[in-house]
Amino acid sequence: MKRGINIELADRVRNLPPYLFAEIDRLKQEALKNGADIIDLSIGDPDIPTPQHVIKELHTASLKPANHRYPSYIGMLPFRQAVSDWYKRRFNVTLDPNNQVLTLIGSKEGIGHIPLAFINPGDVVLVPSPGYPVYAVATSFAGGEVYEMPLTAKNNYLPDFNIIPQYILTRAKLMFLNYPNNPTSAIATRKFYEDAIEFAGRHNIIICHDAAYSEIYFDNKKPLSFLEIKGAFEVGVEFHSLSKTINMTGWRIGFAVGNSDILAGLGKIKTNLDSGVFQAIQEAGIAALNTPDDKLNEIRMKYQKRRDVLYAGLSQISALKPLKPHATFYLWTSIPKGMTSMDATKLLLNEAGVLTTPGSGFGQSGEGYIRFALTVSQDRLKEAVTKIKKVKWLV
Ligand SMILES: *Cc1c(COP(=O)(O)O)cnc(C)c1O
Repeated sequence: MKRGINIELADRVRNLPPYLFAEIDRLKQEALKNGADIIDLSIGDPDIPTPQHVIKELHTASLKPANHRYPSYIGMLPFRQAVSDWYKRRFNVTLDPNNQVLTLIGSKEGIGHIPLAFINPGDVVLVPSPGYPVYAVATSFAGGEVYEMPLTAKNNYLPDFNIIPQYILTRAKLMFLNYPNNPTSAIATRKFYEDAIEFAGRHNIIICHDAAYSEIYFDNKKPLSFLEIKGAFEVGVEFHSLSKTINMTGWRIGFAVGNSDILAGLGKIKTNLDSGVFQAIQEAGIAALNTPDDKLNEIRMKYQKRRDVLYAGLSQISALKPLKPHATFYLWTSIPKGMTSMDATKLLLNEAGVLTTPGSGFGQSGEGYIRFALTVSQDRLKEAVTKIKKVKWLV
């Protein structure tokens, strides 16, 4: 007699794109097992600990019984107020904490859920390529169709709205943008945001701007908030995270700000799925948002020095054409023509013991590139450069 049941995954899971990072992880594990010293530059997770003042606040806040109960769905008012105060200080943008700020369980949670609020089957979502993979997966989970907007060197890694066909535009409901950009490290100009807002208004498209890296910038060039631009509040929202800004990836706290109707739509999804962020973490989040500038500058300087080491080193390798990062902790470089990004990744892993991320993992337009993360020490980056210089790029 047959025992048990047939366990079959739903189509939305079976149709997920092949997870190429699983293959890379397998290769890495194999190399480690053979005793290789791997310098892992594939990780988008800060190696620097969360600052002490944030940890202390979590400790104090965790002792309060009021914080042990269900939190408010949209986030506690003092946290939303602290977000509003930070926005005023940082961007000179005024946010009403009552309806223009929504607390998230990390920005990935909000990005992953927002298509459920606005996308019907057959609707199109415009997604940058290369881009953070969650935009496309969240779209398909909601039954939407992904249209990849290529980010190319020729356009300074900004999408060209003029090449999107009319039949796509009539079905497009939502667009993801992300600057400073993962994986390319590109930053957007004021003119670009103005064009995006005009384009969104003309075609009735919601803009979701992912600003996870707004505070990881170099050479004192502060990135803009999308909400600083005239008309932004009418068409969109911006996602932020404490993860990258202040080394809190493990804590799971972020927020969305901007258009109150769009935030209310996302809020409807969330109230039916989750119950908010542990209040003690929100109180620690307030401390994080009030981190003195000196401390943030210290974090930026650390990444900037690493950027200098890696960029200078890779620039001397004729097979590579690295883009100098002005923000994020990533470095994006083209590889020799005729080689796939997976080939290049394997070559660097096998011959230099350096693990990078193949551009094809971020969408079709990422092919021909690889991404390095600046999440290891300067010394390790120097070592990586020395080893990469010895690689023979036969193609
Ligand atoms: C890391 C990252 C996020 C998610 O960060 P959270 O930890 O979920 O807040 C969102 N967008 C991009 C582009 C990222 O690289």
